[in-house]
Amino acid sequence: MVYEYSLQTPKQDFYNITVQIHEAVAKSGVADGIAVVYCPHTTAGITINENADPDVVHDLLIGLEKAFPGRAEFRHGEGNSAAHLKASAIGSSATVIINGGKLVLGTWQGIYFCEFDPPRIRKFYVKVL
Ligand code: ZN
Repeated sequence: MVYEYSLQTPKQDFYNITVQIHEAVAKSGVADGIAVVYCPHTTAGITINENADPDVVHDLLIGLEKAFPGRAEFRHGEGNSAAHLKASAIGSSATVIINGGKLVLGTWQGIYFCEFDPPRIRKFYVKVL
């Protein structure tokens, strides 16, 4: 089963989509398996990270900005190469184990859609196996 979701992303941020992934797993009825969360975009990504202290996402965004700044020598005509770099560094999917019908996530883990070239209307998919 594949579940499709859409998401409005007004600013560069990590959007917590954990609730949607729990919902997809519940709808699927799969008790033991995996959920693949996938983002079909080249300037956005999917990651798993801290969901308790919002300062962590703040600091991740600062770190990514420092690691992948815009550069005058970039050629890509759209002008968003830094966003493409961040998207490749983060990756376009995450896989989570399902055990007993529940996502196996650590206490402090959340699943995030990472927007690097806002504002957009984005999609992501959850494949439950
Ligand atoms: Zn581009």
